[in-house]
Amino acid sequence: MNTITEPILNELKSLVGPTNVLTDPQQLYRRSQDHYWFSPVLKPQMDGKVAEVQVSPGSTDELLAVIALAVRHRIPLTPRGAGTGNYGQGVPMHGGILLNHSRLNQILELTPEAVRVQTGTKLIDIERQARMVGTELRFYPSTLMTATAGGFLAGGSGGIGSVTWGTLWDEGNVLGVTVATIEETPQVLTIQDPEAMKGVVHNCGLTCFILDLTLALAPAQPWAQFVVAFDTLETALRCGETLAYDETLPKRLVTVLEWPIPGFFRQLTKPGIAPEGKSLLLLELVTEPAELAERVAAQHGQVTWHSPHEKYHKGGLMLSDFTWNHTTMWVMKADPNYTYLQDSFLPDRVFEQLQLRKARYGDDLLAHIEFMKFRGQLGPQGLSIVRFHSKEQLWELMAYCESIGQVIANPHTHRLDEDVRWNGQPILDAKARWDPYKLLNPGHLRVLEENQ
Ligand SMILES: Cc1cc2nc3c(=O)[nH]c(=O)nc-3n(C[C@H](O)[C@H](O)[C@H](O)COP(=O)(O)OP(=O)(O)OC[C@H]3O[C@@H](n4cnc5c(N)ncnc54)[C@H](O)[C@@H]3O)c2cc1C
Repeated sequence: MNTITEPILNELKSLVGPTNVLTDPQQLYRRSQDHYWFSPVLKPQMDGKVAEVQVSPGSTDELLAVIALAVRHRIPLTPRGAGTGNYGQGVPMHGGILLNHSRLNQILELTPEAVRVQTGTKLIDIERQARMVGTELRFYPSTLMTATAGGFLAGGSGGIGSVTWGTLWDEGNVLGVTVATIEETPQVLTIQDPEAMKGVVHNCGLTCFILDLTLALAPAQPWAQFVVAFDTLETALRCGETLAYDETLPKRLVTVLEWPIPGFFRQLTKPGIAPEGKSLLLLELVTEPAELAERVAAQHGQVTWHSPHEKYHKGGLMLSDFTWNHTTMWVMKADPNYTYLQDSFLPDRVFEQLQLRKARYGDDLLAHIEFMKFRGQLGPQGLSIVRFHSKEQLWELMAYCESIGQVIANPHTHRLDEDVRWNGQPILDAKARWDPYKLLNPGHLRVLEENQ
């Protein structure tokens, strides 16, 4: 569908300045993609979907004017951050305008308790500024260096820090948002009520345009990084559990990786940080190295690398670059025949669940576990690595995992209402209220497609 005529293009240029309107086909193609290529099922569905123009407003007024223009002409609008989403949820399915928020990137207010930022502010910039005043983000995705605050709120869930603080859905982490509605005269709404917030958090750009957000912060800690190697997955997991559930131990990251996953990280194998055949724990903790070495030795682990807190986020190796969905990325870059799952384990059955899976799928299904809190409960959250054979095999495998008590948030669909974590009615209500013409990011809700 071609919706952008010459007069509309000229109007867009006069609203935001010609240099902030992108029409070059190659660049547009690149900007229209996200990381859907993590899924061999999504890839053929998303390839070739491209916006007709990318517009990057430099102020809220400009942004509101672009929304008003789009609504007047009934042009689809797809919000765009850094494009690190990995379900194709930021891919414009019906052309139209890619509304890029990268120029709306100011930190508006920073106190020891909270930070209010414009949507396009990079998470790393927030973390760095916060640390200068003795605070830090409660949690962030492993895409810290590139992802934007608004993109994380709309497209993400949790990450480094979630072992202590939980996720975006957990009350107290997101304190408020300002959003714009998608109407001829867009309304600017301030939302603080947790119920109304359900229409915004992880909305995948479907209900409103996020203008700014307020995130609760945590006191900054002197995080040290550690890699610990084990002969077996079971011993690594057992030790990871002990550390994760130790309430006296400050922790930001407890990641368990079954061998051969660490073998895909050249940056870790070459210097011997990830020894051949060993399953690993990747950790961010506040503890003395000697104390940790003694503790893990008692559980058959050996520290293979340590970086003191003085070097934290100051260049050099960042372990979080090998955790959360960065794990998947490195594996797939090394061998594109793999893909991944989002699969929670039951805390009291995780060892049994892993054994059952291993007996059935062998090394076609490898354990990558992140300890994280969700709704106050700490547990082992899987981002398992899967050798891909076919969509049917993948669906059978997910069904089997569910049959043994795992919860699967299927990352092989771009439709929000096919993800078990979706906030059903609040998202639909917000969509109806704030985007009455269904122009925002169309094509990513099955229920709307079926009703058309
Ligand atoms: C290697 C890798 C590792 C990752 N690790 C994690 C992780 O640890 N934890 C995690 O939760 N996620 C993770 N992700 C997913 C992704 O990085 C996060 O969701 C990220 O925060 C998205 O930010 P972004 O700026 O790239 O947003 P984008 O990808 O640009 O957008 C994400 C979604 O938000 C919508 N959106 C963007 N801006 C707005 C706005 N202003 N208003 C309304 N909607 C908007 C978009 O339309 C899209 O649907 C990972 C992805 C990759 C590729």
